[in-house]
Amino acid sequence: MSNEKIIDYIKSLYVDEDITLLHKPVFLGNEKKYLEECIDTTYISSVGRFVTQFEEMTANYTGSKYAIATVNGTTALHIALLLSGVNPDDEVITQALTFVATANAIKHANANPIFIDVDHATMGMSPQKLEDWIVENTFKKLNSKTKKNDLINKVTKKRIAAIVPMHTLGHPCMIDKIVELGNKFNIPVIEDSAESLGSVYKDKHTGTFGLMGIFSYNGNKTITAGGGGMIVTNNEQIARKAKHITTTAKISHKWDYRHDEIGYNYRLTNLNAAVGVAQMENIDKILTNKRATAQIYRAFFNNLGIEFFTEHKNSLSNYWLNSILLDNKNERDSFLQYSNDNNVLSRPIWIPMNKLKMFKDCQVGNLDNTKYFEDRAVSIPSGYRI
Ligand SMILES: *Cc1c(COP(=O)(O)O)cnc(C)c1O
Repeated sequence: MSNEKIIDYIKSLYVDEDITLLHKPVFLGNEKKYLEECIDTTYISSVGRFVTQFEEMTANYTGSKYAIATVNGTTALHIALLLSGVNPDDEVITQALTFVATANAIKHANANPIFIDVDHATMGMSPQKLEDWIVENTFKKLNSKTKKNDLINKVTKKRIAAIVPMHTLGHPCMIDKIVELGNKFNIPVIEDSAESLGSVYKDKHTGTFGLMGIFSYNGNKTITAGGGGMIVTNNEQIARKAKHITTTAKISHKWDYRHDEIGYNYRLTNLNAAVGVAQMENIDKILTNKRATAQIYRAFFNNLGIEFFTEHKNSLSNYWLNSILLDNKNERDSFLQYSNDNNVLSRPIWIPMNKLKMFKDCQVGNLDNTKYFEDRAVSIPSGYRI
C-alpha cells in the first residue's frame, strides 16, 4: 500500500519530532543572542533597533522601497486594504482557496469578499477567471468625486475596491497578469504573499508587483518572528501612512502625546523583530534546504506515480508547504488517516472560504479548480531538514 511507503519515506527524511508539525521553526543563528540583547538593554517592546533593522532587511531582500513591520500578517493585510482605498461596504475580490486570514482581513476593513477560482497550474488566483468574472458581473460608472470610473457589481451595486491574490503554499501565482487586469479596470492589487517570502516570479519577488504586498512571520511560516507581519510597497506616501496608523497615529515629539487620527496598535515588538532579524540572516540557507527537500519529494512521488505540486513556469517557489495531489477525496482521506495515525502530520488544503459559515453568503465565481484541489491536495512535513 502506498500510504505506508510514503509515511516510511517521510520518517526517513526527518528526525523524529520534526514530522509532528508541517513546518517546525528552526533557529540556526543569532536568535538567542539578539533576544538577550533586548533583555539586557530593556528594549523589549515597541522601541528598539531590531524593528527598523527587520524592515530594512525585508525591503532589501524583496527589492521593495519600503517595508513596515506589524504585529502579524492579518493586521498587515488589514492596513494594506485600508490604505489601498477600501471603504466600508466596498467589495474586494480574492480567491476561495486561501487561509481564512485573507477573508477575515477584508471583513476587518468592513468590506465584503467575492471569491473567485484559483488556477490549475499555480493554485493561486486565476487571471482568466478573474477577467471572466469582472466582464460578466460588473459595469463602469463615473465617480463624480474622483472623476474616475468605478467598477460596480451588477448584482449588489457596490464598488469593487481591491483585488487580493494569494501565492498559495509559496507558489507564485501569475501575478503580472493580475496586476495588468487591475490596471485595466483601475483597481489596486494587494498581494497576500504571507506564504511566499523567498518566492520569485519572473525575477521579481512576490509581494512587489501590486500596490502593496504583505508577509507573515507566524511560527509555521518559512521564517518566523514568533509572530509578525510586514507591508511592502514602493509608494512613499503609503509607506509613511502605514507606519503612522500602525503605531497609534502618534506625531513624533519629545514629550507630547499627540495623535492626529484613530490609529491602530499594530506595532511589532523589538523581541519579535530580534528573532525576525536573526531568521533573515539565514533565509538563503533555509530556502536552499527547503528547495532541496522539495526536489527529493518530487523524485520520490514521481516514482510512485503520485503528483507532487511544483512551481509553475517563470517561478521560483519557496516550497513553504510541500503538497501532493491524490486521486480523489477517498484516497485523500485514507492518506490523512494513515499518516496522522502514524505520527506524521499531514493536512488537507483549506476548506474553501465560501463554505465557512461566516462567508457562505458571499458572491462566488466558478470554482472548479478550487473544488479539484479541495478534494485532492494534502500538505506534508516541509520544515528545515537537519
Ligand atoms: C499566515 C497567513 C496570513 C496571516 O498571517 P498571521 O501572521 O498568522 O496573521 C494571511 N494570509 C495567508 C494566506 C496566510 O497563510
